[in-house]
Amino acid sequence: MPKEEPKRTCIGCRVSLEKSKLLRFVLAPDGTVVPDLMNKLPGRGAYTCMNASCISKACERNQFSRAFKSQVPASDPKELQAWVIRSMEERIASYLALANKAGKVISGSDLVADMLRRNTPVKKLILLAADISEDIGNKLRALADLHGVEHATLFTKDYFGELLGKGLRSVVAVQSDGFVNTMNTEIDRYRNFLRGEGCTYE
Ligand SMILES: [Zn+2]
Repeated sequence: MPKEEPKRTCIGCRVSLEKSKLLRFVLAPDGTVVPDLMNKLPGRGAYTCMNASCISKACERNQFSRAFKSQVPASDPKELQAWVIRSMEERIASYLALANKAGKVISGSDLVADMLRRNTPVKKLILLAADISEDIGNKLRALADLHGVEHATLFTKDYFGELLGKGLRSVVAVQSDGFVNTMNTEIDRYRNFLRGEGCTYE
């Protein structure tokens, strides 16, 4: 029987969920609360659902002090939420850079459109820059939908270029079962957070 994942309680809404479905926070050496998206930082963790409202509730009710069993200075929920969003973006960006290093990324609207039309069996993910021209963006989204390929709109042309070590890139495509699965999970989490979803008990 597969080992059950340990559960933790959200300090905002008190729901108990598997650790991987929650956001982990730790106490930094300076005594402030910081998000730990990689679940790697040492020390006691406090958990919330992956949404802004549970972070707010935790801050308002000073649940972090209780969870860390020490007097924690009041955290600004907006600041923590912005930090979580930035960390989520950094994770997506680092997976994209890794996939690129592994030779699994192509970029540019012509190349991506050709790739979509070839319709190879390997799993794909199309990432469109938020500042892509509307025409090209809509064309590529329609083509991706036609071939059942996931697509997401995030970041900017400038940032994609920087991540790939190239000039401006309005669209990039990842072709790799492993990277696409991981990135889809990260992107779902990020989108849900931005949409204000992710709590089962709202
Ligand atoms: Zn919650």
